[in-house]
Amino acid sequence: MASLTFNSVWKRYDQVEAVKNLDLEIQDGEFLCLLGPSGCGKSSSLRMIAGLEFISAGDILLGGERINDLEPRHRDIAMVFESYALYPQKSVYENLANPLRLRKLGKDEIDRRVKEAATTLEIERLLERRPSQLSGGQKQRVAIGRVLVREPKAFLFDEPIAHLDAKLRARMRGELKHIQKRLGTTTVYVTHDQLEGMSMADRIAIMREGVLQQVGTPMEVFNEPANVWVATFVGDPPMNVLEGEMHGGDGGLSVVGEGFRLDVPASRAGGLSDADLSDRKVLVGVRPEALTLSGTPDAAHPITGRVYAVQPLGDVEVIDVRVGKQRLLVRAELGTVANEDMDATVYVGYRADKLHFFHPGTGLAIRSSAARQTSVTTTA
Ligand code: ADP
Ligand code: MG
Repeated sequence: MASLTFNSVWKRYDQVEAVKNLDLEIQDGEFLCLLGPSGCGKSSSLRMIAGLEFISAGDILLGGERINDLEPRHRDIAMVFESYALYPQKSVYENLANPLRLRKLGKDEIDRRVKEAATTLEIERLLERRPSQLSGGQKQRVAIGRVLVREPKAFLFDEPIAHLDAKLRARMRGELKHIQKRLGTTTVYVTHDQLEGMSMADRIAIMREGVLQQVGTPMEVFNEPANVWVATFVGDPPMNVLEGEMHGGDGGLSVVGEGFRLDVPASRAGGLSDADLSDRKVLVGVRPEALTLSGTPDAAHPITGRVYAVQPLGDVEVIDVRVGKQRLLVRAELGTVANEDMDATVYVGYRADKLHFFHPGTGLAIRSSAARQTSVTTTA
């Protein structure tokens, strides 16, 4: 086991800067998810760890040792690809034993490691089968077994379950997390699926266009997004963002726009007054679950909107409300709004302690001066 460190790492292809000045420390035994949309530089980062891509600038350390110039096979790192890469003609046992034979391990040692991996992955009963006799999830476990038997210092996963159907994916999330926790092996897991990142990782590193946006635990990233882009990337349905104008008065600060006037909690007023806002414009973020709906206007529901659509989700529903030209998603109990209520006027309330404020120019979160700053912050 070992820690992994990126020190000011760049990856340049001919025309593309795929990874820009990445600084990231992955702790020994940690499960870190590298999360971001397609093309943001996740695979490039991972492949540099594995030695499958040259590092254009900067250093990567494994257990404190610089590995830039080390041959991939000497790095003691195992990578699991999306495709299973199993030998179709060989049994599961042989598929697991093969990487060890290549390393010239003794027969007994091979047998011990194969059985141990099979126990960890709960595939003992499948050892005599061929890959064609396995389900997708079982194949995936054998593929993981093939790297597990090597007892590497770190695991690298590149979207290993992206191609599975939704139900199996949900199960594999739990399985992979269980296996990683049992082994305690340092793991970097690449995914574009925020739900995978949120549900599996000890910490998430979020990338956009080659630039690391934020690193933190799933809860930190969810509750204290560093910028408006992270705020709307993490969480489903995504965080609402309203554009408004700051107004001051005797009663304190508020953010005003067509159809709404939001009072800024006193604890946040300091940070907002200090922020360098041009034309007093500000972005207000609020998650769908921090909103409530009412059919009648009152002080607790200061946003006036119109029902645009209702999406029932089984136990809850998501109501799409239009506020002026802007849009709010509200997560509410099933039956709060009916299909017949389309175009009806509704009033939306919010939890003041759940408001986020962002600078409209930079996208950066505006925090009260006292608030704890989250780790890495760069411009959106
Ligand atoms: P992700 O895994 O997040 O989808 P990648 O690391 O694969 O992103 O790609 C990051 C950027 O680098 C993209 O713009 C991609 O087109 C580019 N890229 C990736 N691999 C190569 C390559 N071998 N040659 C040129 N450009 C590449
Ligand atoms: Mg990729």
